[in-house]
Amino acid sequence: MQTSRIPGFYKQTVTKRRELLKNVEAFTEEAFHVLSSPEPLPLDTADNMIENVIGTFPLPLGTGLNFLINGKEYIVPMVIEEPSVVASASHIAKIVREAGGFTTEATERVMIGQIQVIGCTDFHKAKAALLHAEDALIEQANASYPSIVKRGGGAKEIGVRILNKDSMSNYQQMLVLHLYINTCDAMGANIINTMVESLAPTVEELTGGKVYLRILSNLADRCLACATCTIPPHLLKTGDFSGEEVRDGVIHAYEFAASDPYRAVTHNKGIMNGIDPVVIATGNDWRAVEAGAHAYAARDGQYTSMTTWSVDAEGNLVGELELPMSVGIVGGSINVHPMAQAALDILHVSSAQELSQVIVAVGLAQNLGALKALATDGIQKGHMALHSRSVAIAAGATGELIDIVSKKLVEINEIRVGKAKELVEEYIK
Ligand code: NDP
Repeated sequence: MQTSRIPGFYKQTVTKRRELLKNVEAFTEEAFHVLSSPEPLPLDTADNMIENVIGTFPLPLGTGLNFLINGKEYIVPMVIEEPSVVASASHIAKIVREAGGFTTEATERVMIGQIQVIGCTDFHKAKAALLHAEDALIEQANASYPSIVKRGGGAKEIGVRILNKDSMSNYQQMLVLHLYINTCDAMGANIINTMVESLAPTVEELTGGKVYLRILSNLADRCLACATCTIPPHLLKTGDFSGEEVRDGVIHAYEFAASDPYRAVTHNKGIMNGIDPVVIATGNDWRAVEAGAHAYAARDGQYTSMTTWSVDAEGNLVGELELPMSVGIVGGSINVHPMAQAALDILHVSSAQELSQVIVAVGLAQNLGALKALATDGIQKGHMALHSRSVAIAAGATGELIDIVSKKLVEINEIRVGKAKELVEEYIK
């Protein structure tokens, strides 16, 4: 891709935007074809994906622009129903690119499978037996999924924990075996579940207990991605607010989220506003990513902000976001959904690690977009202006009337469906 900076993109028609993306070599003919198709997810395909299918449910696919990550340009596909998210991400990405772009990194992609064992007569002996058999357990797990080993992944390590050992209840006492598995470019749920299920009889033999649950953990804290950005204050200047004022407002907002779960949950919802749309667009399991992200935000015992914002010695605003990112570029519905393929095509990522890094960069951008608005004009000004189009449509406006009614709603500062209905009736008369 040549660039993710396409000035005036938002002012174009959908058809023209597709052409502009083609001009910067954002996607292949095949992706272009899928994107322009009247039925991007064929009903037959949908019918094979889940049960009791009666149709498909389209959502808007937008593009986050201006993303410069580790020196590489990214046009980011984002599937979301909420107005202002894509605009905000692109706005912040533009500021950050002027500051040199996002810096990201990712750990090795190690996911966790769990095996629950109950009823051991001696939990400590059972733990020792499992640890002693580590090599054999890894070998057996890998034998159950040899193709992932050939790809350079597979089970690598085990860990054992005893939970509630002092409890008087047999229901509460348990041993938990963790199997650490490199799932390469797949999210890996099925790979992991196959492996842990294969180990159950051996684990029962070694521990003398009974195996109950055998399933992956979505708290993928060995499959992390991290994004950072450093922004000089002059790039943050907004209206009457100086860059320093915006910077300090962002940090105050962060400290609020860092100290108060009631604020943290909304702060983090704003981060997921950026993350989920990319996860969905690329055909990944957003419930898995959501669950892992929120659990990681509570890893020290209190639910807190997923991001950190601070000021460095030069007075720059420094932001960081680290999250578990159990996403893939193969497997699950990714290979099945043509739009997921098209989205990956637009992104130009060559590994799950790279995808996970783009996703956290978008999450960090989204967070700054929200905090910058909250610390200055408030969120409603920009949000409601964009929301006015949905309000106009909900009131029955179509075609050119959508624009006319939404502009009028903003002008009179009454962005409500009731008012929009009055306007639609007036214009139709
Ligand atoms: P798959 O079962 O489709 O496995 C991925 C497959 O892709 C592998 O078996 C591998 O097969 C193939 N593959 C091709 N190239 C690569 C590569 N470079 N790296 C890795 N694999 C490669 O998908 P997952 O195991 O990823 O499972 C994801 C799905 O599981 C998601 O849809 C998710 O919703 C669902 N799920 C989630 C759960 C949760 O989060 N709690 C629970 C259960 C399911 P081969 O090597 O043979 O070619």
